[in-house]
Amino acid sequence: MQENLPEYPIRVYNTLTKVKEPFRTIEPGKVGMYLCGPTVYAEAHIGHMVGPVIFDTVKRYLTHCGYEVTWVVNITDVDDKLIVRSREKGISMFQLATQMTADYVSNLQALGVDQIDRMPRATDSIGEIITFVEELIAKGFAYATDGDVFFDVTKDPQYGCLSNRSADEQQGEGGGAASRKRSSGDFALWKSAKPGEPSWPSPWGQGRPGWHIECSAMSRGILGQTFDIHGGGLDLVFPHHENELAQSRCCHDKPMVTYWMHNGLMRASNEGGKVGGKSDRTSGDAPKDAVSEVAASEAPDASVSGKISRSKGAGGLAGLISKHTGERIRFFLLRTHYRSTSVFGDEPLAEAGSALETFYRLFERAGKILGCSVYDIPHAMRRSAFEAPANPPALLAELIQLRSSFLAKMDDDFNTGGATADLFEMARALNRFIDQSHLDESPSEANREALRSGLSILREMASLLGIFRKPVSQSSDSSESARLVQGLMELVIHLRAEARTKRDFATSDAIRDGLKSIGVSIQDGKQGTTWESKTT
Ligand SMILES: [Zn+2]
Repeated sequence: MQENLPEYPIRVYNTLTKVKEPFRTIEPGKVGMYLCGPTVYAEAHIGHMVGPVIFDTVKRYLTHCGYEVTWVVNITDVDDKLIVRSREKGISMFQLATQMTADYVSNLQALGVDQIDRMPRATDSIGEIITFVEELIAKGFAYATDGDVFFDVTKDPQYGCLSNRSADEQQGEGGGAASRKRSSGDFALWKSAKPGEPSWPSPWGQGRPGWHIECSAMSRGILGQTFDIHGGGLDLVFPHHENELAQSRCCHDKPMVTYWMHNGLMRASNEGGKVGGKSDRTSGDAPKDAVSEVAASEAPDASVSGKISRSKGAGGLAGLISKHTGERIRFFLLRTHYRSTSVFGDEPLAEAGSALETFYRLFERAGKILGCSVYDIPHAMRRSAFEAPANPPALLAELIQLRSSFLAKMDDDFNTGGATADLFEMARALNRFIDQSHLDESPSEANREALRSGLSILREMASLLGIFRKPVSQSSDSSESARLVQGLMELVIHLRAEARTKRDFATSDAIRDGLKSIGVSIQDGKQGTTWESKTT
């Protein structure tokens, strides 16, 4: 039992124990949560947004339940990929990291991810990282050799506990480093600098941190030696999280994290199976009871799906946001259970858009009846602040029951996909009430009040998902005009295809060049012609 905090039956699936466990925090009423952030070497793609949207929602939910949540997302701004890409671009690694961090943050904002408390950068934490490595050497878990420092996996009998791998299955970095390691599974904590690379002085000479150590050092610095939730994509379970866990547990002789939470990855709907990247999923990861309609129909075996990656054309997030709106993308991501694979593509996004239209139409209709914007109707900011009236009218009784159902689904390992179904039921009930009570024509004050209270409940639940925070026309392009643009583009693409069929290449080229001059590019592929606006 936690002091001053109502006991809610929240349960969290823990990758470490492979079961849902009751949620208990280390400190009463406080939650420390860490999410592995991006390596900022290129523009963000939609796959990078899955984790942030999910953990933003987790924070909103826990906050609503009364917890004070500190959420940390790190920025990896020193890495082989950054070094290579910055050389290609002819700019410094730091310039590249700054540009790509700005891109990442602007995309987070567009998707309503605004709950992050701290975004520490690896290059700002070099001192803490060196201290951590020194401690591991002093305790016998790491060794220095020729300017490199490695973690010795054979010294940790529990190594492999998160990913269920034996030490024999481990393969750390190969290449030149392999010959300096005691065993092949050892991984780098500190890497000696090659000529011309960014580097920092250390007890082992000029060098830079290995990838895994920054998260152990930065999470300790902000959240302490043991904290409540560590999140990331399933592809990070091994080696990244296994190594983080080993470093921290060996250094402190106590668990690093209570709950390890991993989100499913994303695959493209127009590809037959695995899309890009490596698949680290093993069968049984996806919760059978939580696969959304989309995932169930298009990804019968989520366990074989890989992650979406830049190499498969998943770039252009800014273009995607301007075409679909941030709210639509967020809603699309939350309709699938966070542990399932989300199936990404124009069609599922359009489906999410038409689902949202149900709510926008209701808000417009109710706004006219109430003479105010639905977005201005206040709602409970805490779960405990909601007060159900003693004898609620039928509409309110139904909404209160749906609210309980919504919260029960969120309590059950943050089942946002199930919770959205209750949100739809709320919209249906409110529309039915307006129809049956003829509210459009002559609303009584009692009925208007019931409608307002019902909408307040709907808004409270939507706020937990981070949607309907402001009118969509203010948040981004209105869906009405986005639909018009989509329709016009389909028409133009059709006319161009007709011209090509008639071998009228002068006309088809004129269409393509004309679109290009206004910042719209079109690509002909196996799946047909697609378009992308570069105006943002
Ligand atoms: Zn990490």
